[in-house]
Amino acid sequence: MSANLINGKVFADNLRSQLSDIVIKLSESHAVQPTLAVVLVGNDPASKVYVKNKIKFTNEVGMKSRHIRLPEDTSEAAIIEHVKDLNKDDEIDGILVQLPLPKHVNSDHVIAEIDPGKDVDGLTETSAGKLVLGAKGLRPCTPTGCVMLAKDALGDLTGKHCVIVGRSILVGKPAALLFLEQNCTVTIAHSRTKNLEEECRRADIIVAAVGRAEMVKSNWIKVGACVIDVGINRVANPDKPGKTKLVGDVDFENAKQVAGSITPVPGGVGPMTISCLLRNTLIAAYQRRSIDLPGALLDV
Ligand code: NDP
Repeated sequence: MSANLINGKVFADNLRSQLSDIVIKLSESHAVQPTLAVVLVGNDPASKVYVKNKIKFTNEVGMKSRHIRLPEDTSEAAIIEHVKDLNKDDEIDGILVQLPLPKHVNSDHVIAEIDPGKDVDGLTETSAGKLVLGAKGLRPCTPTGCVMLAKDALGDLTGKHCVIVGRSILVGKPAALLFLEQNCTVTIAHSRTKNLEEECRRADIIVAAVGRAEMVKSNWIKVGACVIDVGINRVANPDKPGKTKLVGDVDFENAKQVAGSITPVPGGVGPMTISCLLRNTLIAAYQRRSIDLPGALLDV
């Protein structure tokens, strides 16, 4: 058996095309062009690439972007002042502070200052609280992408047993709550979980968010299960000496012989994160103005 490949890139492209249509409708009906502000502190090369892509895709779907670049030695207080200015700025619908911040800055302090109505990463305490309560709010991007891909593969998720491996604030915990919202029965596993392999073997859906290259083996996977691999790990490329390649947290080549559907790395969950960020910016633009959300933005 060979699993259906869940093509996150195609799904994310289609999602952005839908968002483009909604951006045009919002502009026609309310003369609003949503704007995403991205704050980048320092010179981390990976962060620079992420920010560049976020801005590129924001503009491609017809939204505006504002790029705030701050030097590496910017103080925590000064970064917070920038965030407060963006909170007050009526033109800004979404605020994203690119993580990680330099070591001298406590990112929790900075995130806490973001207006929850503009918290398009879904990382403030208010957004987290709304997720727990099942209240309307902005949901974290990567976990939302995981749910969308699982629904694309399986349809209605009601009653499915979902095992999330990883309990981080960024991925594991919010993913657990989002799959619960879809009426899944959720198990959250982590580094202290006993019999992890057995827990995984009971799953209809496995979400691997561990950060350990190819840790989830094919014999951990129930035949026909849906496997969502969040991991991004750079490892040596055995086919190209001296070069590296990206792999997920799942042993993809063997797992695809057992799974019913599986996301590849790269090209699975990764591309969904930016599309979900843009979707959140659009949702924020509607919600800040108390305009009813169009149906396409209500799912998940
Ligand atoms: P964290 O390091 O914050 O969390 C990892 C989690 O995995 C922890 O809860 C940890 O458990 C658990 N864990 C670690 N080792 C084991 C083990 N041997 N057995 C079981 N559980 C274990 O990582 P993130 O959640 O931030 O990211 C996870 C992965 O997803 C990374 O590869 C990251 O690069 C990727 N990622 C991808 C994104 C995308 O856009 N596709 C976005 C964000 C992340 P414990 O809590 O007990 O320590």
